[in-house]
Amino acid sequence: MNAPLRSAAVIGAGFGGLALAIRLQSAGVQTTLFEARDKPGGRAYVYQDQGFTFDAGPTVITDPSALEELFQLSGRRMADYVELLPVAPFYRLCWEDGSHFDYANDQAALDAQIAARNPADVEGYRRFLAYSRAVFAEGYLKLGTVPFLNFRSMVQAGPQLAKLSAWRSVYGMVSRFIRDEQLRQAFSFHSLLVGGNPFATSSIYALIHALEREWGVWFPRGGTGALVRGLVRLFEDLGGTLRLSAPVQRIEVEGGRARALRVDGQRLAFDQVASNADVVHTYERLLGHVPRGAQEAARLKGKRFSMSLFVIHFGLSRPQPQLAHHTVCFGPRYRELIQDIFHGSALADDFSLYLHAPCITDPSLAPPGCSSHYVLAPVPHLGNAALDWSVEGPRLRDRILAYLEQRYMPNLRRDLVTSRIFTPADFRDELGAHLGSAFSLEPVLTQSAWFRPHNRDDAIPNLYIVGAGTHPGAGVPGVVGSAKATAGLMLEGGQ
Ligand SMILES: Cc1cc2nc3c(=O)[nH]c(=O)nc-3n(C[C@H](O)[C@H](O)[C@H](O)COP(=O)(O)OP(=O)(O)OC[C@H]3O[C@@H](n4cnc5c(N)ncnc54)[C@H](O)[C@@H]3O)c2cc1C
Repeated sequence: MNAPLRSAAVIGAGFGGLALAIRLQSAGVQTTLFEARDKPGGRAYVYQDQGFTFDAGPTVITDPSALEELFQLSGRRMADYVELLPVAPFYRLCWEDGSHFDYANDQAALDAQIAARNPADVEGYRRFLAYSRAVFAEGYLKLGTVPFLNFRSMVQAGPQLAKLSAWRSVYGMVSRFIRDEQLRQAFSFHSLLVGGNPFATSSIYALIHALEREWGVWFPRGGTGALVRGLVRLFEDLGGTLRLSAPVQRIEVEGGRARALRVDGQRLAFDQVASNADVVHTYERLLGHVPRGAQEAARLKGKRFSMSLFVIHFGLSRPQPQLAHHTVCFGPRYRELIQDIFHGSALADDFSLYLHAPCITDPSLAPPGCSSHYVLAPVPHLGNAALDWSVEGPRLRDRILAYLEQRYMPNLRRDLVTSRIFTPADFRDELGAHLGSAFSLEPVLTQSAWFRPHNRDDAIPNLYIVGAGTHPGAGVPGVVGSAKATAGLMLEGGQ
């Protein structure tokens, strides 16, 4: 039996790092969380400008029970830290022919919209939902928080994955049930939210649909940043230490174990170390001085990485009541555009967009009578398209704002108070993301579960990984699930 763990360091205060630090501190382990940037949250950073609040990353909050669990560990209630507001409809999906689909948690409303497009698809949708619920039960409830440390665990999951046709793509599976092309897009785009190509990602990711139908889509009052602040407050109330503007320079390894961190020239010793930083950054930069780090970094660089994103945060002097909170604006092409985004070496002439209008749910995110927004376009990562974003960024911004003005937000440019962009180069430089990928390793079957970097390093027994680059993968529920898997291993591992 190992002696109980006394102290731990977590590198990076993204959702995965925060959730892990809370779990460790709740179990009585003195935990220090080191964050390179001046604010916590990682991809869920917050910008404030002229009274506008802009969440930088996640806005679709699903599976609130996984977040609630972090508070329950110490007998607390999430409601005392942050309020989650229901979002309705979940999303509005719009096409260039002027049609739209309100994806809501209302079976009758869904049936009516599906029937208006293709009556046979009403029954097809029911069968798709039944499939999605089956993969949700298997892939999320059963395997989502299990660490896949050895191949045996993968083999054990194999028969069930085979039964669920996990080798098919999300789009391929949706197409078996649904005929209308726009409905196929409506029920297959979800994997893009976690960096997965709907034409390549395993149909297991169709579980996102059932997850949303089961537990809803939520938005924290005050924005996603309020959820991050609630988690930080919980961690600090428990006695944990958060150090901001504290980039970790290296993980010191002696006698085959992680012994200390080098931060700001100081050497700080811990029993165990977990990294929530990008996996390539972790092995190449923090561990590159030992053979294990250099070897693993080289191996990981041979993997496929998810696409990047181009994001514009902007504030307007008017409200936009015609919008839904979440809108997906499909461009003229679907399959071909996704091919260009995942495999192309240049920017396509067209784009598909996700438009965020949080003031529809919570007007406090902008000054009275105003509205704050972001719009994002998936774009190739820097390994596929080595673009000069200082040139391409402003150009793409102008094209996207003109497009939104023409189709969704009249007089947008006249009413523009403030705007800023975040490009693949910023994902690389601000977040240390390999190739500027927005979601780390691409979630294809051959890079999932045991095939993904493990929650515990294979060679350094007290070094752990948490976050999008490990099992189960990107997205807030994914990285919060990875924290559960990693915390279990760390507590079991002892000193
Ligand atoms: C624009 C955008 C929109 C998204 N929308 C959604 C959504 O609606 N719903 C959803 O569920 N998911 C969404 N996602 C995905 C989700 O945000 C991410 O998968 C998730 O937040 C990643 O969390 P993580 O724990 O892996 O850590 P990250 O957020 O990647 O944080 C890692 C942290 O480590 C820090 N760090 C790195 N190196 C060091 C170092 N050497 N020392 C100290 N700190 C270091 C970084 O500064 C960073 O703060 C979105 C992502 C993006 C980019």
